[in-house]
Amino acid sequence: ADDKPLKDSYKIASDSLFAPFEFQNSDKQYVGIDVDLLKAIAKTENFKVAMDFVGFQTAVDQTQAGHADGMIAGMSITAERKNVFDFSDPYFTANASLAVNKTTTDIKSYKDLKGKTVGVKNGTASQEFIDKNKDKYGYKVKVFDAADTMYQSLNTGSINAFMDDEPVVKYAILQGQKFATPIAPEKIGEYGFAVKKGSNPELISMFNAGLKKIKANGQYDKIVAKYMGNDA
Ligand code: GLN
Repeated sequence: ADDKPLKDSYKIASDSLFAPFEFQNSDKQYVGIDVDLLKAIAKTENFKVAMDFVGFQTAVDQTQAGHADGMIAGMSITAERKNVFDFSDPYFTANASLAVNKTTTDIKSYKDLKGKTVGVKNGTASQEFIDKNKDKYGYKVKVFDAADTMYQSLNTGSINAFMDDEPVVKYAILQGQKFATPIAPEKIGEYGFAVKKGSNPELISMFNAGLKKIKANGQYDKIVAKYMGNDA
């Protein structure tokens, strides 16, 4: 069957900073919803994982190159990605949202971005949306490898806005970032665990089987609540 581990341990790539899905706690340990979900699923289904927090685009590259067996990184299941990835069942729903500085009053719609600079993280669904609409709204795009430098750039004013997943922006605001989200969010697809198309099919089967179990036994809700509280 497709549901037994074929490797002693699976190498799973992830983002480097995508709180509350993966981030380093004060002890420099990686924690978060993705980390805890995958651990719980691996335990339930009796397989081993070694996670590597390399950044979103690098995780995509490593998985496509076969250097990682799979990835979990708050990765949206998009039609384009389905050409090169096999996805698990969706495990979380998240839209993408434009963030501006809390003190910004002149950005209320995408049209107001004319002549401004919008940040995005490399390889993300937000980048795809922002690139696609660049000429329509007349803004410039600045690409970042990780969220921390993108957030800093908004704080210092070197970009006027950025687009990132809504729960991630909300979490940043809860953590004290002075951001606001003046525009209704965009649908970018639900999150899925992914393998390179055609590879490690047992990993997808085990993930799906484990996800069902931890949803049924309450572990899933507990993990999400641990990081999002009542905001989930
Ligand atoms: N959900 C977004 C995507 O799949 C962002 C993921 C991320 O930045 N880790 O592109």
